[in-house]
Amino acid sequence: MKAVALISGGLDSALAAKIVMEQGVGVYGFTVIHVFSESIKQATPSYAERSADELGITLYSHKASQDFLNIVKDPKYGYGKNVNPCLDCRIYMLIKAAQYMKKIGASFLITGEVLGERPMSQRMDAMNIIDRDSGLKGLILRPLSAKLLSPTVPEIKGWISRDRLFDIQGRSRKPQLMLAKRYGIRKFSTPAGGCLLTEPNFSKRMKDIIKFKSDFTLEDVELLKIGRHFRLTSGTKVIIGRNEQENNSLVKFTKDGMIHLEAQNVPGPVVLVESNTNDEDIRTAALLCSIYCKKTAAWKHININVFKKAHQQTIRLGQEEHVPDKDIQEWRV
Ligand code: SF4
Repeated sequence: MKAVALISGGLDSALAAKIVMEQGVGVYGFTVIHVFSESIKQATPSYAERSADELGITLYSHKASQDFLNIVKDPKYGYGKNVNPCLDCRIYMLIKAAQYMKKIGASFLITGEVLGERPMSQRMDAMNIIDRDSGLKGLILRPLSAKLLSPTVPEIKGWISRDRLFDIQGRSRKPQLMLAKRYGIRKFSTPAGGCLLTEPNFSKRMKDIIKFKSDFTLEDVELLKIGRHFRLTSGTKVIIGRNEQENNSLVKFTKDGMIHLEAQNVPGPVVLVESNTNDEDIRTAALLCSIYCKKTAAWKHININVFKKAHQQTIRLGQEEHVPDKDIQEWRV
């Protein structure tokens, strides 16, 4: 008997897999990596890989692409506290996991969901929606809360003993931590750690891009992770690197049609401007660039190089030119 366990790298999913493994089922790990998965503190190997390694199971990683962005843009069940479409996301993950389940000839899925632990995706009605919309009713076993839920196919068919499953519910982590001790599970991340869609500052940038560029791509999302972002009054986006690493990353995006600005005579940041803009916005971007340049003696007469595809021009900024603080605050995303 084989089953596929969704492994997030957190404790709940590791426990769920372990509980089923203890009943003699061959468990295969499955995880979804998406463009929002990486938190600022990126871990290598990932927490899901560490978790699978500790459990001694293989892990298949599904890399979500543009189809996942469509969910984030317009989730059927809306967002949580930030721009996290957790319910739609869980349905997506389970559908992908079910494809893997079929491919390897497994019979059911395992998740670490706990009734009442998360406000959006772990309520009873949400779990029912997940089961229904994924087309997997009866095939999703939630070992940590199974005794509080309707029996699933693996329990009904006797592949799994319901008596050896649990009735955990709520937000307390105590029962899970006790089980972690019992099973010797030590490698796990904090709950919901690592999803940028749950971070307020990143969510602000996501809301902005959903509003101004509804056909945004994976590369656009990658850009949201770098630098200071400004949305000018005209709607043009300006991005300014905060350090050398970000400047180098931003340079890589210039090939994709962004306009690239850099000070000529003082050290300063790399600035990118969306290419479908006008001369006034480019001058504003040059002024924004000057604000973050090193204030050396040359700063008083700063020259900003502007690279647009093969074309290059230089903007000379006068000492008296500046951008009002209130505009900068207003434009900041
Ligand atoms: S926190 Fe992020 S990865 Fe997790 S279910 Fe919600 S949207 Fe999906």
